[in-house]
Amino acid sequence: MELSGGFQDECGVFGVCDSQDAANIAYLGLYALQHRGQESAGIATLEDDHIYIEREMGYVADVFDEARLSRLPGRTAIGHVRYSTAGASLLINAQPIVFATGRGPLALAHNGNLVNARQIRADLERSGALFTTTSDSEVILHLVARSKEPTLTRAIADALLTVRGAYSLLILSTEGIFAVRDPNGIRPLSLGIREGSPVVASESCAFDLIGAKFERDVEPGEIVKLSREGFTSHRFAFPQHTPCIFEHVYFSRPDSLVFGRSVAATREAFGARLAREYPAQADVVVPVPDSGLYAALGYARESGIPFGLGLVRNHYVGRTFIEPKQAIRHFGVKVKLNPVREVVEGKRIVLVDDSIIRGTTSKKIVGMLREAGSREVHVRVSSPPTTASCHYGIDTPTRRELIASTQSVEDIRKFIEADSLGYLSAEGMLQAFGRPQQSTCTACFTGIYPVEVPEEEREKEGAVAKC
Ligand code: SF4
Repeated sequence: MELSGGFQDECGVFGVCDSQDAANIAYLGLYALQHRGQESAGIATLEDDHIYIEREMGYVADVFDEARLSRLPGRTAIGHVRYSTAGASLLINAQPIVFATGRGPLALAHNGNLVNARQIRADLERSGALFTTTSDSEVILHLVARSKEPTLTRAIADALLTVRGAYSLLILSTEGIFAVRDPNGIRPLSLGIREGSPVVASESCAFDLIGAKFERDVEPGEIVKLSREGFTSHRFAFPQHTPCIFEHVYFSRPDSLVFGRSVAATREAFGARLAREYPAQADVVVPVPDSGLYAALGYARESGIPFGLGLVRNHYVGRTFIEPKQAIRHFGVKVKLNPVREVVEGKRIVLVDDSIIRGTTSKKIVGMLREAGSREVHVRVSSPPTTASCHYGIDTPTRRELIASTQSVEDIRKFIEADSLGYLSAEGMLQAFGRPQQSTCTACFTGIYPVEVPEEEREKEGAVAKC
């Protein structure tokens, strides 16, 4: 993955019900999900029919200190980490969003993107609704508040009949937490148990940190109510099952179980398949850290070429890093990655990355390896060429900015100045993933969108904040 200007993670959600120190547990859960969003963090708790909320721009560890967590009383909490497009990077769009309704207060945390939010919002505004954010997520709360259904579960189901797109939702209410996955199950959402208390998280790595046991995924088209009594399931739509394959290519943490599969094992399988499809005569397999690591292990294992950590990543580079004005060759990448000369000098390298977005970062990495004395650099990518934008909650560059949308593989090879370039085929990726095309979202590689995206939505960028 290109280290800047590429795909960005969108959001992570976490919830805990009926537990001591709910705010602290939510804090830890969000900490484990920090990779899914770094621009804002928020926690909402429930006590005595009142919802308390704290949210701020920044990393989880910077937003929350003891004083702030102490302002979040109660035994039930939901939390959210968010990444957003620059124009929509506002505190008002930080989640959870809190909303007063005739059914009591509600707080919402959303991962995903609604493809018809603009239309619904325009309709609601025409009928007098007042919005407090520019986020697509808020339309769900308006629809729930307006529903005439007698119970909150049915009101949520009623609201979701109107929205289309990707959503893994947590709704905090006086009845407990409602955890919901869209009928296509595009974004992940998992249930667990910690000391008898129900918990829910975007990824199972959050359960490991808080000592919870993974139970199961929330099913596509399912509403699960988390309460003192445990889990109560309600189906609101027929499941279609088209989970996002990019969660396994790049977004999710390798130590997570996502869609019932180990992310690390999937990435290794992608790498092994890539080695069969695009072998190379080389001395060492080098991953682009961290996202290319497991695919490189798979490539090395399958090809028999030794694995070497020929690039080191600086993990302490924040988003606010300002590049100095003077031109230093490959500077932007050098801040984040540095070659290990002892591993790469005089060697023929297989460089494994998970994707190429604009191509500029790959070009710099290849250049850096050559400067460090590599004889040849053969780039291998553990996913197919990225040719289309995501409309389901991943902040992608526009289609025009994706190098593979306009350039052939050979043109990209020339641009990044590699000796050879090979991408995993779409068929190979799906076989390694163990799911057929019709049961997987691969739209950013194939342009096949499992949930129809309105034409006007494909054209517009950034007017409605995604999460
Ligand atoms: Fe995932 Fe790509 Fe589909 Fe978006 S378009 S949901 S990133 S596979």
